[in-house]
Amino acid sequence: MTRDEARLFLHVELDDLEPGPAAPTLEQILARTGIHPRPCSACGQPARTSGVIWHAQLGPRWFDRCRVCFLETPPQIQVPLDQVLPHLRKVAAEIGAPLTVLSES
Ligand SMILES: [Zn+2]
Repeated sequence: MTRDEARLFLHVELDDLEPGPAAPTLEQILARTGIHPRPCSACGQPARTSGVIWHAQLGPRWFDRCRVCFLETPPQIQVPLDQVLPHLRKVAAEIGAPLTVLSES
């Protein structure tokens, strides 16, 4: 799901989110999830992932999620599986990691 769909699923109000940058850098994201993580926008536990939701009237807003809230609202891959799999197989082969693909399609 998208970040905004995740926000709705987790019952987080846009007004409760901090204003954020339009295009956050990796450093800005890591600063929110690193040694001193921000609280999860949904439950208050330490955030493990962060991103920005863009709202037409409010502008960009930080949306931080802990591990549990992130796993409840996983992002969807927007690229067809047959286009992603060759890349995943290549990376898995390069690092020697086993790869098992489970798919409904
Ligand atoms: Zn949470």
